[in-house]
Amino acid sequence: MPWMQGYPYYLLMGSVLSLYMSVESFRNRSRTGRRYLWILMLLVSVMFISTAGEILAPALQTKLWWKNVQQPPLFLSTILTYAVVREYVSQTSEGLARRLALFCIPVAVYVLLIFTDGYHELMRGDIGLITVAGVSGVAVHPTLLSMLFIAYDQLIGLYAVCLLAASLRSSPKAYFWPTLLLLASLSVPVVCSFLLPVLKIEITGFTAFTYLPPMIAAYFILLRDSRVAGDPAVKNKIFENMKDGIVLTDHYDNIIVVNEAADVMLSTLAGGHGTRWMGRNIYSLLEYYGEIAVHYARRTEGQFEIDATGTDEIWYGVSLIATERSVAEDAGMLIVLSDLSEKKRYERELLYQATVDDLTGLYNRRHFMRMVQHHLSQSGAGVALLLFDIDDFKLINDTYGHMAGDQALVDFAQKMLNVYCESGIAGRVGGEEFAVFFRAEGEEAALREAEHFRITMGNHTVRLDGGHRIRLTVSIGIAYTQRKDVTFEELYREADDALYISKSTGKNKVTLGRPSSWREALKG
Ligand code: GH3
Ligand code: MG
Ligand code: MG
Repeated sequence: MPWMQGYPYYLLMGSVLSLYMSVESFRNRSRTGRRYLWILMLLVSVMFISTAGEILAPALQTKLWWKNVQQPPLFLSTILTYAVVREYVSQTSEGLARRLALFCIPVAVYVLLIFTDGYHELMRGDIGLITVAGVSGVAVHPTLLSMLFIAYDQLIGLYAVCLLAASLRSSPKAYFWPTLLLLASLSVPVVCSFLLPVLKIEITGFTAFTYLPPMIAAYFILLRDSRVAGDPAVKNKIFENMKDGIVLTDHYDNIIVVNEAADVMLSTLAGGHGTRWMGRNIYSLLEYYGEIAVHYARRTEGQFEIDATGTDEIWYGVSLIATERSVAEDAGMLIVLSDLSEKKRYERELLYQATVDDLTGLYNRRHFMRMVQHHLSQSGAGVALLLFDIDDFKLINDTYGHMAGDQALVDFAQKMLNVYCESGIAGRVGGEEFAVFFRAEGEEAALREAEHFRITMGNHTVRLDGGHRIRLTVSIGIAYTQRKDVTFEELYREADDALYISKSTGKNKVTLGRPSSWREALKG
C-alpha cells in the first residue's frame, strides 16, 4: 500500500498535534476539571513519537528500546483518561491525586519489570520482528503476568467510559451533546484495546491513532466550547481584578468559577475558614443563610443584604442571577457579592444625624415625636409625657458663657439618660427643654417619678470648666393618659400647659396637666 510509506510520518504528525493540544491545555489547566488533560495529551504525544521511533529504528534492539518507551504512556494514558473523565463529571479534583497515585502503582511495577533485564522473562515471551503493510515493529508474546497488567489497564479505561455514560443521565441539557460526543470518541481507544487483539490487527502504532479522536474531541469540548470552557485570558484579568465577588456554580451546586474578591468574601462569610472555594459545594456556605439557600435551590433570582460577621461591621450584598433562563433548573447560578460596608456605615451615620441631637446625644425633637407616636399606637396601658424646662437658663449663659451653658445641657441630658434610658424614651425638644415618655400605672406614679427627678436634679451639682459649680433647677409639666386614641400633639399640649403653670407659679415645680376636654367640662 503506497500510502503506508508515510506511516511513521503520520505518527510524527500525531505527536506534534498532541503536543500542541497539550501545551494549549496546560495554559488552561487552572480550571477545575481540566487539570489532567494536558498530561494525557502529552502522554499521547510521547506514545506517537516512540511508536514512530520503533518503526524508523533499523535494529531490533533499538526498536525494542522504543517499544519499552511506549509502555508508560500507553498504560498511564488510560489512568489519565479516567482522571479527565472524573474531573469533567464531578467538576472537582478533590482527592483525585491520591486515587491516581494508587492506580499508578501496578503501572510502576509493570514498567519496572519491563526495564529490569533480570525479570524480563516475567513480562515477555518471544520477541521478534513483525512487518505488516511495509511497517515493521517489534512483536512480543505477552506472558500471563503482563496480560494481567494489560487487563487491569483496560478495566480502568472501561470504568472511565462507564462513568461518562452514567453522567449522561443527569447531565444538564447544555452539557448533553458535548458529553455524548466525548463518550463516543473515548469509546474508540477503549473498544479498540479489546477488539484489536481479537481481530488480530497487529499493525504497529495503531493504538496511538485510536487516541486521536478523544484527544481532538476533548480539546474542542473541554477547552474550546464556550459553554464549558474557561474564559480568555483578558476576561480573566478583568474578572480577577473586580472588586465584586463573582461565583458561578454548576448543575451540581459546585463552584466552577470564583474570582479573588469572592474567595475573600466567602471566607469571611464562613467565619474566616478556608481560602480556596473553587470546586467546593455552595451549600457548605448557604446552610447558614436560609433565605438565600431557598432562593438558590429554586433557582429564583433575588437580592439580599447580609451582615457577614454578625457584628454590623461587614455587610455584603448578594445577588442571585439565573445563568440560563430557559433551562434554569439544569444550570447553576451566578452569585455576585458586593461589599456594602461603606454604604451601611454611611447610612448609619445619616440615620444617627437625623435622629440624635449632636450636643446631648438624646433623640432630637422629630425622632422623639416619631418614637412616642409609635408607642402610643401600640400601647394600651397608661403613659406619661414629662416636659422639662431648665429654670433661668439664660442666666447661666449670661454668667458663665455659652460654652458653659452647653456643658450644663450635656450634664442635664446625661442625668436624664441615667434615669430613663431603660424605663422610657428621652429627647431634647428645644434649646433647654427636654421630654421623657414612659409607662406609668397612674397619675400618682407619674407625679412621683417627676418629683423624684426634680429633687435629684436640684441636689445635683454641675461642674463647669474653670472650676465653677452650679445647681440647675427644673420645672416639669406632666401629661398622663390611659386613652388609646390619644395623639402626640394632644399629650404635648397638655404637658406644655402644665409646664407653663409650673413656671408661672414660681418654677422648680411639677404640675400634672389635665386633658383639655376635662378642663372645658370643669369650666362649663
Ligand atoms: P425660664 O426659667 O423662664 O425657662 O427662663 P430661661 O432663661 O430658661 O428661658 P428662656 O427661654 O428665656 O431662655 C432659654 C435660653 O436657653 C436662651 C438660649 O440662649 C439658651 N439656649 C438655647 N439653646 C441653647 C444651647 O444649645 N446652648 C446654650 N448654651 N444655650 C442655649
Ligand atoms: Mg425654655
Ligand atoms: Mg428655661
